[in-house]
Amino acid sequence: MNIHEYQAKAVLREFGVPVPRGIAAFSVAEAEKAANDLGGPVWVVKAQIHAGGRGKAGGVKVVKSVDEVKREAARLLGSILVTHQTGPHGKEVRRLYIEEGSAIEREYYLSALVDRAASRVAFVASTEGGIEIEDVARTQPDKILSFSVDPATGFMPHHARRVARALGFNRDVAKQAGDALPKLYQAFVAKDMSLLEINPLVVTKSGQLICLDAKVGFDDNALYRHPEVVALRDLDEEDEKEIEASKYDLNYVALDGTIGCMVNGAGLAMATMDIIKLYGETPANFLDVGGGATKEKVAAAFKIITSDPNVKGILVNIFGGIMRCDIIAEGVVAAVKEVGLRVPLVVRLEGTNVDLGKDIISKSNLNVTSADDLDDAAQKIVRAVRGAT
Ligand code: GDP
Ligand code: MN
Repeated sequence: MNIHEYQAKAVLREFGVPVPRGIAAFSVAEAEKAANDLGGPVWVVKAQIHAGGRGKAGGVKVVKSVDEVKREAARLLGSILVTHQTGPHGKEVRRLYIEEGSAIEREYYLSALVDRAASRVAFVASTEGGIEIEDVARTQPDKILSFSVDPATGFMPHHARRVARALGFNRDVAKQAGDALPKLYQAFVAKDMSLLEINPLVVTKSGQLICLDAKVGFDDNALYRHPEVVALRDLDEEDEKEIEASKYDLNYVALDGTIGCMVNGAGLAMATMDIIKLYGETPANFLDVGGGATKEKVAAAFKIITSDPNVKGILVNIFGGIMRCDIIAEGVVAAVKEVGLRVPLVVRLEGTNVDLGKDIISKSNLNVTSADDLDDAAQKIVRAVRGAT
């Protein structure tokens, strides 16, 4: 689960991490009041959307009067911001963050994330702040420092010294880093974050170390122990189909292709997406219905797939192990009876109760093309989709 920058900064502030003062605003009037309360003389008007790259897209404006705050707020609220992270459709700006302006001496990059291979929290730091770390990794990999933290000791003073040295901090800024970095680590662990990215971390002209931007993602599997985090969820920022899928505990990710996929098991789902690509079409979603899916869950999944107007064909690819083929067949038939079927459907069933499953589908009189294996299934759905368009 992701949250907005202003929410992330509030979480960091709770842990004593230095962030600029700021106030969230949902209207021009609130933006004006926030600007007056903050006092100026410099403000930053920041569009709050769950995507980065706002600066380059005009979503972050440094201004010098309350009138300009009002003007920028009016321009941004309700507008669609297209950044390189939003996709071509962009995101509607519904919230703003009005912040006190900082005089930047230099921008740096700092992030913490879960290193699954090491089973530890890893830190990444770079002198190249304010730009995408992926670009730095590609063009100047020597400018990136990374290390992981032993959970038994936690974040140690030597970790902070390493970051300070790599970023070329003077004594005073290094001291501030020695104070702030362990707090970032504590926030990360205490809140079960999966990503904490400060880009940029800045040193101001007066020598203060501040987190100027903050992007935070949380581990969904740990949300049950953080109701205060769940309360920060902004459904406007999430895909409607993904919200519906989360109600049924389905592992669903919306994509922008044409072939809807219903698969059991994450590995098989990835392989199914790959083979659709191989035959020249693109998947409309990733969907793993899981091992213990019920008929209701399968029907819900099928309805979510068919509700996507981009879906021109559906591929059901089930390898029945724990999941039984007859349950899948019953779910598909129930969903089609309820919502109808306006696109070609290819079903490939294999494994536990496969004959029973095939029988249920053939007796339902649905217009289904059955397939023998993954290769056959992918070719059939691609052909069907192309024939239909
Ligand atoms: P992003 O583009 O979505 O990552 O948004 P950021 O919050 O990182 O802001 C983008 C850029 O705006 C930063 O890299 C800074 O260069 C600039 N910026 C943000 N806040 C301030 C500020 O208080 N003062 C100044 N001078 N520049 C700022
Ligand atoms: Mn940023």
